[in-house]
Amino acid sequence: MDHVVVVGAGLAGVRTVEALRGRGFGGRITLVGRERHRPYDRPPLTKSVLLGESDTTFVDTDLAALRVAFRPGVSATALRPGAVETTEGELRYDGLVIATGADPVRLPGDGPQHVLRTLDDAHELRAALVPGARVVVAGAGWVGAEVATAARRAGCAVTVVEAGPAPLATAVGPEIGARTERWYDGIDLRLGAMVHSVEEGGVELVGGEFLDAHVVVAGIGVRPAVQWLADADLDLHNGVVVDEHLRASLPGTVAVGDCAAWWSRRFQDRLRVEHWDTALNAPEVAAASLLGEDAVYDPVPYFWSEQFGHMVQYAGHHPAGERLLYRGGPEGKWSAVWLRGDDTLAAVFAVDRPRDLVQGRRIIGAGSRLDAERLVDPDVPLRDC
Ligand code: FAD
Repeated sequence: MDHVVVVGAGLAGVRTVEALRGRGFGGRITLVGRERHRPYDRPPLTKSVLLGESDTTFVDTDLAALRVAFRPGVSATALRPGAVETTEGELRYDGLVIATGADPVRLPGDGPQHVLRTLDDAHELRAALVPGARVVVAGAGWVGAEVATAARRAGCAVTVVEAGPAPLATAVGPEIGARTERWYDGIDLRLGAMVHSVEEGGVELVGGEFLDAHVVVAGIGVRPAVQWLADADLDLHNGVVVDEHLRASLPGTVAVGDCAAWWSRRFQDRLRVEHWDTALNAPEVAAASLLGEDAVYDPVPYFWSEQFGHMVQYAGHHPAGERLLYRGGPEGKWSAVWLRGDDTLAAVFAVDRPRDLVQGRRIIGAGSRLDAERLVDPDVPLRDC
């Protein structure tokens, strides 16, 4: 293999470049990125950057030492076998890495709205979060909750409009989500409400109510950034369909990170996980597979969120679970665990209980059984249950 093209210069893209070099690949590598920035981490955008504690979050990597031709500000527009079309001409390849991540979904309407996906988005939003500003955040998911945290901290008057019956309901279900409602103290949390359209000066809700706003933020989710592949001879379904080796249906092609829907041996399900840990670790497998090695990606997925002063962490895949049990009441530090019918652990959701997360992730990986009665006692370490 002489030339690998990596499309998407986010964490997954740059980690794949590092992994290719780490495995001794000596050919040419071209890294194509739509943004004008060098690769950076996104989790701090809604945390330290929005809170004004940091300005940049660049990934600590040496592109020159990696001997990668980095092409910032260049978008891939189409793919045919052996060649990627870009806004600056064609790039021929014999190995291809698709790492184009995800794009935020916008609200309908012509009024001004913010999304939060890029460093530039974060800087624009930060400038708008001034004391007294009326801020409407659509969506009480991970990004919405973190934006609301920052806006409240900045002294804004915050309304969160959530279509579901509870915050985080889409991600972890309404029952767990309801336990986080109390965190929205001082925020006008509208559950079961939807933005109909963003207008000049605010948002109109479904039903006709108008909420005045200086700042409107869409935190209603993302879609895999695969539009450029629409005409390619490649299986797409909720992202790029890849096997357990992260190989796509087009020979010589792997996909990795937020845009890739891989087959999980462990959960016997196709997963597309829009979280940092996947972008960090899956590239080792993607690089190995591209180089013809036999590597399998089969993690216990993990992510975290920092919201309203709480460290929220999740590991596993809860659709595989059948029974939901709690360790501790909603007023303090608590965890929720999903058990399968055979008492093995499918997933753990920990609020300010990092030990539960670490131990739970190991237990899920090992496939051990737990004693449900001991489990509900938060004083018994999870590993002893
Ligand atoms: P991306 O980081 O999206 O990188 C893809 C890159 O490809 C982008 O730079 C994009 O511009 C570029 N691109 C797209 N299309 C093209 C094209 N056609 N041509 C060229 N380039 C293209 N995860 C957690 O686990 N915990 C958190 O607390 C957390 N917080 C987050 C906060 C925010 C605000 C955001 C946005 C994400 C957060 N995440 C978090 C998720 C995590 O950051 C992502 O899972 C991770 O960034 C995915 O990396 P990626 O490289 O796959 O995609």
